[in-house]
Amino acid sequence: MNNILIWLRNDLRLHDHEPIFRAFQKTENVFLCYCIDEQLFEEISFGQKETGFKKMGEFRTQFLLESLLNLRQNLQKLGGNLIIRVGNPAEIISQIAQKLECKAVYAHQEITYEETQMEEKVEKNLWQHNISFHTFWGNTLYHIDDLPFPMRALPDVFTQFRKNIENYVKIRPTFPTPTKFPLAEIEEGILPTLEELGFEKENIKKISKKSVLAFEGGETAGKKRLEEYFWEKDLLKIYKETRNGLLGADYSSKFSVWLALGCISPRYIYEEVLRYEKQRTKNESTYWLIFELIWRDYFKFVAKKYGNSIFKTKGIKNTSNLSLKKDFVLFEKWKNGNTGVDFVDANMRELAETGFMSNRGRQNVASFLVKDLFVHWVWGAMYFESQLLDYDACSNWGNWTYIAGVGNDPRENRYFSIPKQASMYDPKGEYVRFWING
Ligand SMILES: Cc1cc2nc3c(=O)[nH]c(=O)nc-3n(C[C@H](O)[C@H](O)[C@H](O)COP(=O)(O)OP(=O)(O)OC[C@H]3O[C@@H](n4cnc5c(N)ncnc54)[C@H](O)[C@@H]3O)c2cc1C
Repeated sequence: MNNILIWLRNDLRLHDHEPIFRAFQKTENVFLCYCIDEQLFEEISFGQKETGFKKMGEFRTQFLLESLLNLRQNLQKLGGNLIIRVGNPAEIISQIAQKLECKAVYAHQEITYEETQMEEKVEKNLWQHNISFHTFWGNTLYHIDDLPFPMRALPDVFTQFRKNIENYVKIRPTFPTPTKFPLAEIEEGILPTLEELGFEKENIKKISKKSVLAFEGGETAGKKRLEEYFWEKDLLKIYKETRNGLLGADYSSKFSVWLALGCISPRYIYEEVLRYEKQRTKNESTYWLIFELIWRDYFKFVAKKYGNSIFKTKGIKNTSNLSLKKDFVLFEKWKNGNTGVDFVDANMRELAETGFMSNRGRQNVASFLVKDLFVHWVWGAMYFESQLLDYDACSNWGNWTYIAGVGNDPRENRYFSIPKQASMYDPKGEYVRFWING
C-alpha cells in the first residue's frame, strides 16, 4: 500500500502544510494523527522542591484540546478525520502507521531537544517496520534552506540577520489546502478531558473573563482573529503605534497563541499583510508586523544553531556575570504577583489568571526577576512554559536568555527600570488598577 500517515505536532492546521501537500502528491490515502504526549503533564520540580505546576499547564492544555477538536471537525467536513491518541508518540505513531499499512510517515521538522529526540525515537521504530520517515521545514516565514549563510554562520545580532534575509531571500508561497480527505478504517480516538490528563477537578481553573481575548484554540479561531484584526477592525495600519499596549484585544495581534500550535502559518499571515497593503494601506505598521515575525524566525534559527544551550543557565554565551539565587520564596512572590511592585504584580496576575501577558509586560517581569530579585532566570522561563498560552520553546527560552544577558542582546547589562517603564506605558495606572484592584 502507498498510504501515508501525517504525524502532527505544532502544526495543527490544514492550510500551508507541506507534509500534507507532499503526501497527496504521492497518494490519495493520506491520514492525520496526533498523539498527546503524557510526559507533558508531569509536575515540575526545582531540584527537590515541588513547584505545584506542570510542564504544560491547564490553560495551554485546554487550548490544545480545542485545537485538536477543531482540526477533527474541519477534517470531518472534508470527508476525513483526525486520529487522536494519548501516550508515548515513539510507540503510538509506529503502531498507527502499521495498522493503516502506511509506507511512510511525514511530519514537520522540530528544532528543540525534546522534540527532536522524540523524532529520532519515532523514526527508529518506523524503520524497524520498513516504514520511512520524512520531515519538512515549515513553521517559519523564511525557509531554512533559503538562508544566505550556513547555520553555523547565523549572525548573532538580530539586525544583521534581518538585513541579510530581507535583502537576499524571498518568502515562499503558501501551500494550497486539500479539499478532500479519505477516512481511515481505524478507531478515531476520544479527545480526553483535562481530568483524564491528570488535572484535579477541584483545582481546574478557567481563563478569567478579564482576559484580553476569549482565546479559543484551532485553525478556524486563528483565522477569525486575523480577519478581525486586519479586515474588520482595520488595526494593522496602526500596529506600530499600539503594539506596546497592555490592555484589551486591540493593541497587538495576539497571533502568537495560534502560531504556537501552528493553527495559523506565518506565511499565511504574510500573504494577508501583502493583500492588506494592496487593498487598504501600506505603511510602517504593516511592515512592523513582518518585522516582529522575523524576530520569531530568528529565535527559531538561533535555537537551531545553538541547540540545547538556550535552556542552560549560561545560555548561548556560555558565560554569565550575574550571580543568581535559587530562592524559592522570592520566586513564589514573583509568580503569584505579590512582590509589592505594582507594575510587576499586575502583569504576573494577568498571566496567572489568563495565560497571556503583553510583550512589554514580559520584558519587565523577566528583567525584574533576574536583575532586581536576582532569582534564577531558568525558573522564570519554566513557569512561563507552563503558563503561557503561546508557549513556544524557541521564542520563550530565546527571549529569556536575551533578558538574562546570556542570549543575543548586543547591549551589555540592559536594565529595565520598572518605575520608569510603568510611567511610560501605564501613565494613568489603568493597567495596574485593572489587575490589582479591579
Ligand atoms: C521573557 C519573554 C518570553 C516570551 N515567550 C514567548 C513565547 O513563549 N511564545 C511567543 O510566541 N512569544 C514569546 N515572547 C515574545 C512576545 O512577547 C510575544 O510573541 C508577543 O507578546 C505575543 O503577542 P502578539 O501575538 O499580540 O504579538 P504582536 O506584537 O502582534 O507580534 C506579532 C507576532 O510577532 C512575533 N513576535 C513579536 N515579538 C516577538 C519576540 N520578542 N520574540 C519572538 N517573536 C515575537 C509573535 O509571533 C507575534 O505573534 C516572549 C517575550 C519575552 C520577553
